[in-house]
Amino acid sequence: MSSSKKYDYIVVGQGLAGTLLVHDLLEKDKSVLIIDSILDASASRVAAGLINPISVRRCIPAFSEEYIEKAFKTYLQLEKKLNTNFLHVRSLIKIFRNPEIQNLWKDKFTNFGMDLYIKGFNNENSFNFLNDDYQSANVEPSGNLNVSKFLDVSKRYFLKTCDFVDDVFSFSEFNDEKISYKNYKSEKIIFCEGYRIKENPFFKYLPISPTKGEIMTIKIPSIEFFDKIFSKGVYIIPLGNFLYRVGATFNRVDLSDRVTKDGKQFLIERLEGIINVDYEIVEISAGVRPTVKDYKPLIGWHPKNKNIGVFNGLGARGVLAGPFLSYAFVNSSFETISRFN
Ligand SMILES: Cc1cc2nc3c(=O)[nH]c(=O)nc-3n(C[C@H](O)[C@H](O)[C@H](O)COP(=O)(O)OP(=O)(O)OC[C@H]3O[C@@H](n4cnc5c(N)ncnc54)[C@H](O)[C@@H]3O)c2cc1C
Repeated sequence: MSSSKKYDYIVVGQGLAGTLLVHDLLEKDKSVLIIDSILDASASRVAAGLINPISVRRCIPAFSEEYIEKAFKTYLQLEKKLNTNFLHVRSLIKIFRNPEIQNLWKDKFTNFGMDLYIKGFNNENSFNFLNDDYQSANVEPSGNLNVSKFLDVSKRYFLKTCDFVDDVFSFSEFNDEKISYKNYKSEKIIFCEGYRIKENPFFKYLPISPTKGEIMTIKIPSIEFFDKIFSKGVYIIPLGNFLYRVGATFNRVDLSDRVTKDGKQFLIERLEGIINVDYEIVEISAGVRPTVKDYKPLIGWHPKNKNIGVFNGLGARGVLAGPFLSYAFVNSSFETISRFN
């Protein structure tokens, strides 16, 4: 890296947000320096990667259609570009807990346009390893992204196409007037630090309200694989080779990556409400989601310095929302922090 080189952008953080953003910046032929260190409790490294177009509690669309289309299109394009598979398109089966929820979903299907995402209903007891006494619904398009794999293959690509500093960004070495960091100079800098935006002197005033999540990997010795995602209180995502991911908890008080007794208990109770076969717990992990009080992402430029940007607040559904928002940021000129959903 030559010290006289001036980048178009420095991007701090290569979680899901930073990764999507750098791919979009490279598409615009921008030169980028990435500064990232995989710090404890980062969300993307533990995320299950679920892509679910429906907010299941009220059975309403989670996002507008353009977000959903953009997510699938982007990950498919990136799979081609990176020559690897990390997107798994598969149905999500929403299992009803009681007749009231079943009726709500059927009403939304028939009378409120939710047939856009509900692709039919299954009779009770359709799956012999599940507790599906009150029927279930097939939700599509849905699936899951192997987020860690996406980040790892992207990093390998970035090492060839950008400059990459594997270190913790220290604000004491950043000059905000010159947009320089140590010996590196840039036109602009964009912070994508996930929940650690709380420690960023330029953006810590934003209404971030992080949420810890715990997530469990289990083995079901009697079932090698089922090509569906099941949801009832928690989701179960197939990983292959008898392994499944079960998640997740929500906790706003404890923001460590410590696994808790309460979190484990919650996941076990919900899991046993879904499956009726033996399982073993393989691993439990935790991370902190960059959630925002009003659920809207934090995107744009600092009100006092238009060369310092933020791309954050992807919340609990970053895999679905991220591609649309990243594209919008890179291809629009937000004057200041934009609050939209
Ligand atoms: C348990 C759990 C399950 C989840 N499941 C899903 C799911 O199924 N579907 C879904 O869509 N979303 C899910 N999410 C949410 C999803 O993970 C987030 O929306 C998304 O990953 C946020 O990405 P991010 O890049 O903003 O933050 P992060 O992933 O936290 O990335 C921030 C990056 O910046 C780095 N960084 C921070 N500060 C510095 C610094 N000073 N110097 C250098 N590097 C720094 C961090 O180490 C990290 O690499 C889940 C989250 C959790 C915790």
